[in-house]
Amino acid sequence: MPPLTPTKMVSLSTLKGIGPAIANKLNALGISSAMDLLFHLPLRYQDRTKVQPIGSIRNGYSAVIEGEIRACDIVFGKRRSLLCKIQDGTGVMTLRFFHFSAAQKKGLVPGQMIRCYGEVSLVRGGIELIHPEYQLIIPGQPLPTAEYLTAVYPSTDGISQVRWRNYIKAAFDALDENSIPNLLSDKHLSLFDNKNFTDLYSTLKLLHFPPPTIDLELFSEGMHPLQRRLAFEELVAQRISHLILRKDSLQESAIAISDNSHLEQQFLSVLPFELTSAQKRVLAEIKSDIARPSPMLRLLQGDVGSGKTIVAALAALQFIQQGQQVVLMAPTEILAEQHLSTFKEWFNTLSISVNLLVSKLPAAEKRQRLADIASGQTQLVIGTHALIQDQVVYHDLGFIIIDEQHRFGVEQRRTLKNKRDDIHSVHQLVMTATPIPRTLAMTFYADLDYSVIDELPPGRTPIETVALSNDKRLEVIERVSNACQQGRQVYWICTLIEDSETLQCQAAETTASELAALLPDVNVGLVHGRLKSPQKQAVMSHFNDGDIQLLVATTVVEVGVNVPNASLMIIENPERLGLSQLHQLRGRVGRGSIKSHCVLLYQKPLSKNGKQRIEIMRMTNDGFKLAEKDLQMRGPGQVLGTQQSGAAIFRIADLERDADMIDAVVQASNAISNSSPDVANALIKRWCPLATNYIDV
Ligand code: ADP
Ligand code: MG
Repeated sequence: MPPLTPTKMVSLSTLKGIGPAIANKLNALGISSAMDLLFHLPLRYQDRTKVQPIGSIRNGYSAVIEGEIRACDIVFGKRRSLLCKIQDGTGVMTLRFFHFSAAQKKGLVPGQMIRCYGEVSLVRGGIELIHPEYQLIIPGQPLPTAEYLTAVYPSTDGISQVRWRNYIKAAFDALDENSIPNLLSDKHLSLFDNKNFTDLYSTLKLLHFPPPTIDLELFSEGMHPLQRRLAFEELVAQRISHLILRKDSLQESAIAISDNSHLEQQFLSVLPFELTSAQKRVLAEIKSDIARPSPMLRLLQGDVGSGKTIVAALAALQFIQQGQQVVLMAPTEILAEQHLSTFKEWFNTLSISVNLLVSKLPAAEKRQRLADIASGQTQLVIGTHALIQDQVVYHDLGFIIIDEQHRFGVEQRRTLKNKRDDIHSVHQLVMTATPIPRTLAMTFYADLDYSVIDELPPGRTPIETVALSNDKRLEVIERVSNACQQGRQVYWICTLIEDSETLQCQAAETTASELAALLPDVNVGLVHGRLKSPQKQAVMSHFNDGDIQLLVATTVVEVGVNVPNASLMIIENPERLGLSQLHQLRGRVGRGSIKSHCVLLYQKPLSKNGKQRIEIMRMTNDGFKLAEKDLQMRGPGQVLGTQQSGAAIFRIADLERDADMIDAVVQASNAISNSSPDVANALIKRWCPLATNYIDV
């Protein structure tokens, strides 16, 4: 039996370049040692190992280019920018900078040779790199090319890609083969026929620094044996943590909630609609769970717009009626805000006090809210990860609702649940719109009972989806204008490179000013992850009120926006997103009785897979069907999509893509949790740390 603890514990602060401030940031991501750094896995790779001729580069791909600067000028259009034309004998292209200094412009003189790296986009027929990285080439001193593929890491504010690469390199230098215990035996690994990569140190090294000869296609699909080796281990760890939760809950007691429908009746009598029969069924399932003196642990799955929130509200009322406190945790501030306004509208007439807790509140305000929560003055607390912070003390916490559960780790849920510290445990309802096929969900989430709302509220007109290429952009803008003239509201969703939130926000800014210039009669709003929370709130509430007619947004609107008057959505570069994410986005329209449309505005040329996915989006509105297709296709788009939305609580695994491993995962996790509790703990510690910062948008 190999040792479970590393022979060498190397702390972060001994690594080059890591001081206390960075160590804190890394801690917040669940990284507390050099070894943890090695498990911070790349999202994807860039190929900087060869310089490409301009004539050969393709739209949407990243490339290293070398050429001679022919011209460099500031242009004043909708937005002041610096344009730099470069030529290499096979073609001409433009570098575009929105932010630049005078010194920078001075260095970019005609005749100078330059090497640049960036993502290629086709703009008005020409090829552009927007905000490329670049280096000037000194004559006689050719620049070296990268030896390995360059990893792109999931990140957080204040840690650049260059820094990640340096930290991870430093961690490898400080550790060796003996530093990383292999927790899975050959027997476990052979369960899914992948015993080639038992040595973790070299497996990880290859993942962080793959040679250019590696099969990038397989990599980008997440199907490389190296990735699958780690994905398997991660799934085993995750499932063990679910098994532990389940075991906990079987041993725990909870306060039984007797069926007293007083508040429920009052609430339903003012509701302007009837519950669907699926909603009624699920509510009955919940009521029967909580009537027992053991904790409920139920997963509620339902397509976007199926009406999960009302069911959660009705469940909450059962507890509030008994004087118990209820907590609703959502993954983003926008979603928490949205829930706050919904619940306030519903619960204020019942004199129930609802309050919000997010991390960025003014100190005095926060103190007050914490005090109201601790005293029980607040009956329903809505918030983000801030809800699990140490200083939050609840008052007779009886019920926890988790929205978009796939965005939270088990450890986060556990921390929240342990906020109730007497002999009783809380009841939990976790909700998700990510349609994982039922059997897969039940197998993997060993800790959960399962309910589904498989019926949409009546009166919804199905959304009609069309796909248009970017050549038709002006026609699409015309369409936006028409919709706004008819008093409708419109979403315009910008997607871009997932590792650069800054670039993504810039793209949205550029698009918003472009649209504002072309549509002078339309009120255009902009929301993205870089806005401060009050700004975000202001924009969202203007859109809610109809003051903003056209909302330009990055994928942050994916969850939690409910504006029935919005009947048109434009999604740019849909080929970059997975089916499930596209479906979630699209679900923001079609919420009223007006016929709604979704335009997928793609960039030509589409890959075969991209074409297929767009076609599927056009053909079906059913989230579960889409999920199954996603599963069958296992396309790179899906991999990208999950990562782009920040949806992945997994670092490398993807429950749907890796579905073929699930039987092996079940066998290995059952065996380990039954007979090797030490290995089980070590696996959880490795793969499921309490990371809280990944998904704060
Ligand atoms: P989701 O499942 O995506 O969280 P929501 O709970 O936000 O869905 O519901 C979407 C919209 O449908 C909301 O405006 C909600 O008020 C409305 N709704 C929910 N249930 C019904 C129903 N039974 N009949 C009509 N409208 C409903
Ligand atoms: Mg919802």
